[in-house]
Amino acid sequence: MTSSPCAAAEFSEIMSAVHRALKKHFGFDKFRSQQQEDAVKAVLKGDRDVFVLMPTGAGKSLCYQLPALLASGITLVISPLIALIQDQVEHLKALNVPARSINSKLPSAERRQILADLESESPRLKLLYITPEMVASPSFQPCLSSLCARGLLAYLAVDEAHCVSQWGHDFRPDYLKLGYLRSRLQGVPCVALTATAPKRVQEDIERSLKLRSPLVFAIPVFRKNLKYDVIFRDLLPDPYVHLLAFAKEALGGNTAEKGCGIVYCRTRESCEEVAHKLTKLGIPAKPYHAGLKVGDRNESQTDWMAGKVPVIVATISFGMGVDKANVRFVVHWNLAKSLASYYQESGRAGRDGLPSSCRIYYSPKDRDQLNFLIRKEIARKQEKRGSEKEQDKSPILDFEAMVAFCEQEGCRHATISQFFGNQKPNCAGACDFCRDPRLVRAQLARAAALSTRTGPAQSAEPRGPFGFDPELYAGGRKGYGIERCDEEWGNEEDDSEKRKKEFGDIFRKQMSLRRVSTRTGHSLAKGQMLNLMKTCPGHFSTRNVAQLKR
Ligand code: ADP
Repeated sequence: MTSSPCAAAEFSEIMSAVHRALKKHFGFDKFRSQQQEDAVKAVLKGDRDVFVLMPTGAGKSLCYQLPALLASGITLVISPLIALIQDQVEHLKALNVPARSINSKLPSAERRQILADLESESPRLKLLYITPEMVASPSFQPCLSSLCARGLLAYLAVDEAHCVSQWGHDFRPDYLKLGYLRSRLQGVPCVALTATAPKRVQEDIERSLKLRSPLVFAIPVFRKNLKYDVIFRDLLPDPYVHLLAFAKEALGGNTAEKGCGIVYCRTRESCEEVAHKLTKLGIPAKPYHAGLKVGDRNESQTDWMAGKVPVIVATISFGMGVDKANVRFVVHWNLAKSLASYYQESGRAGRDGLPSSCRIYYSPKDRDQLNFLIRKEIARKQEKRGSEKEQDKSPILDFEAMVAFCEQEGCRHATISQFFGNQKPNCAGACDFCRDPRLVRAQLARAAALSTRTGPAQSAEPRGPFGFDPELYAGGRKGYGIERCDEEWGNEEDDSEKRKKEFGDIFRKQMSLRRVSTRTGHSLAKGQMLNLMKTCPGHFSTRNVAQLKR
């Protein structure tokens, strides 16, 4: 990094100052990883932009916070959410670091105080957190111009930088304004930070933030302690017994102290069912999903965290912010929506570095259902917007990568690493294909034979979220059934909750109900059902409509 003995001595002095500051301000004795240390060094050097690609919890923030404290001037940190900003600022304030935020929720007196400090000859502030909306707002421009003109901006840090990419799931249009900001702040080094992002998102970030041949600091995607495999569920005589044997082996017996596991399911019903079956077969398991009472859900999580229950069977809402070291296995009973989500979810295994297993119980039927739901969601968004966009294809491409991962003949680790733009790793038997390609090929051949016998999997027109099911109410009952209204098909995190409520309200009014039961179905006369379908067309599958009109 340094070119002369004199410069080398100077740099080693700087690095001892960095270590001292690490201890003094943050209380840490050492850097968390070589990548974290190298990123800090590169930011401090300041001659190149820096791109930090590290998984959540790896300590990305320190890569700009520590240099910000050592540099003269102010570091402007762009972050997408006021809540995230408040967390960070509170944390830094508790460490006595001069950090503040300007946001729309700030009382005006405090805002004036911050602006006055920034206007002063030598501001006290070291880190100023701000949303992309605020940084582009006319009210902030005079302050920004003044800081620039006086050469007081040390760094520009863009946190959650993937929000700039229209290919990413968290795209925030306001992040696009940062390209313009970048052109205004020529000469101010930029640090972009994000958790592991697919290659095309990384490229988008570099382009949009105008990063000039940035130095990239990334924690490699490949984790050799994780063993990946895929089992075709429909080929198994009893999938639950298979899961039980796997869980027992992965837990090294049946004791909680030896570790724990997560089984991810798509619906609440399957969470309940899998947890019940596992418990009945001999491994205590608890469900975790949005349909449980808060107390029950918390209990599932606390029992699992405390090691009282070795297995938690959950929807994907479980896991964010859960940092448990001894997760010995992560099973996907249903397919993840993208390879990126799968990597993140399965990556909760083996954080202690010990051997752990990541398994998908794959089913083409499940694949077709999810495929249908993803396309339906895209169509709904397009309809609402009234136009199509190239980026609409993104969830489909993401999902196809996930399917290809399950149906491939090749190293699973290589697929994941290459998806994230990493080199092909040396898997050394850490996936089923590298361990025994013949078994993977034999399984694929059996699955192909099964699908020719049974015909292509029913191109799924699933019933949810509020689809009706005539068969459900056949056998004595009159009328047409609306299923339980707490159905949880697909996305928990998008607006399907809103859609459910919207439908629930219309349904309640039409049926003159005081409330819609979330536990039972409702039986409707044909006329009522037709009326409902007319009012809420988006909530019924075309197959259902055709069935009713017959
Ligand atoms: P990220 O932004 O990558 O998700 P954070 O910056 O929030 O991660 O850091 C995650 C946690 O790691 C924080 O509690 C932080 O204090 C801690 N941390 C960061 N660097 C170190 C370090 N060098 N040693 C120990 N803990 C660290």
